[in-house]
Amino acid sequence: MTIAIYPGSFDPVTNGHLDVASRVAKLFERLIIGVYDTPDKQLLFTTEERVELIRKAIVNLPNVEVKSFIGLTVDFAKEVKAQTIVRGLRMGADFEREFDLAMMNKKLSPELELVCLMANQEYQFLSSSLLKEAARLGGNINDFVPKHVATALIRKVHSKM
Ligand code: ADP
Repeated sequence: MTIAIYPGSFDPVTNGHLDVASRVAKLFERLIIGVYDTPDKQLLFTTEERVELIRKAIVNLPNVEVKSFIGLTVDFAKEVKAQTIVRGLRMGADFEREFDLAMMNKKLSPELELVCLMANQEYQFLSSSLLKEAARLGGNINDFVPKHVATALIRKVHSKM
């Protein structure tokens, strides 16, 4: 069975992430979205919340599931028997970071392959961090996330004010 993982922080999941997931779901028999438990970033949502927001967003994708993981992405890939890591590439800065990550992962686990999907034009400039900032400042975020994510995000930023 062809199995891929799509790892990330997803704090929170955006339409850009979901676009990558739905496109990649057509290329593999099973896709597992892996939510990093402890990325090197300041998080707004807990791991359980990030997983739950994704779970609600992928109900229409039968071969896609979501799991959280701790530790190395390559170890998570092995644990779920994935042969491929999927990442999304936006214009500019993503490439350099993904290139470094890919080189490191290849050293750690040479048998794992990386597949990068170009971000949809519509979502090139969409990031979870910009989205959180827009939500904090009261911007309309409805075009960038599913409705349940927008609701959760607005509630969360207000609870932190
Ligand atoms: P990470 O902390 O691993 O960068 P993110 O949640 O920010 O986690 O992103 C997960 C993956 O999704 C990365 O490969 C990132 O480049 C990609 N990604 C982020 N935003 C978008 C977007 N708008 N369109 C397509 N891919 C995206």
